[in-house]
Amino acid sequence: MIRHHLNDALLMGYSAGQLPEAFSLIVATHISMCDECRARLESFDAVGGALLGALPEAGMGADSLAQVMARIRQAPPPPPAPKPRAGVFPAPLRDYVGGDVEAVRWRAVGGGVRQAILPTARDASARLLYIPAGMAVPDHGHRGMELTLVLQGAFRDEVDRFGPGDIEIASEELEHTPIAEPGADCICLAVTDAPLRFNSFIPRLLQPFLKI
Ligand code: ZN
Ligand code: ZN
Repeated sequence: MIRHHLNDALLMGYSAGQLPEAFSLIVATHISMCDECRARLESFDAVGGALLGALPEAGMGADSLAQVMARIRQAPPPPPAPKPRAGVFPAPLRDYVGGDVEAVRWRAVGGGVRQAILPTARDASARLLYIPAGMAVPDHGHRGMELTLVLQGAFRDEVDRFGPGDIEIASEELEHTPIAEPGADCICLAVTDAPLRFNSFIPRLLQPFLKI
């Protein structure tokens, strides 16, 4: 049961192909686990296609977006989710790593926590985190936006509890200490946009949809 989802800006950016590589990876991985966000993404894909198709001819009326959204709401439901996966990593991540957990080359970062940096374009970075049950990731702030997707186990921090499939969207203001729940080691995929700021992508990525 996933309770923490992607926001509209991330889904729109992904649909428009405007996210940094590391962000695209985490969005694709969450979507492969989450029916709700996959359905929302399909709406954005449809809106983007409809608006792009309409734009060269005439400007958009004030209610064009509402009309498109209304048409989409009447569309049939999206196809069912892919079959449950055998390992820990969903397919988009497994393709990236070149295997499942056993293919990861972990490095200790202290306190029993291990991480593995994934190779991505340098406008954002992606890493896997392995937090032994009951252990904490050192308290930290964020220079930009950090997204953390739980793949196995669960963690709690000052914000809430995050279980498998949940994604935490942490902004610059948040200082938090994620602690893995007792009973199971927690494995997460985390991406950050520092030193670039995710927010700087938003005006650019909204252009194809809203022509602002
Ligand atoms: Zn979701
Ligand atoms: Zn953090």
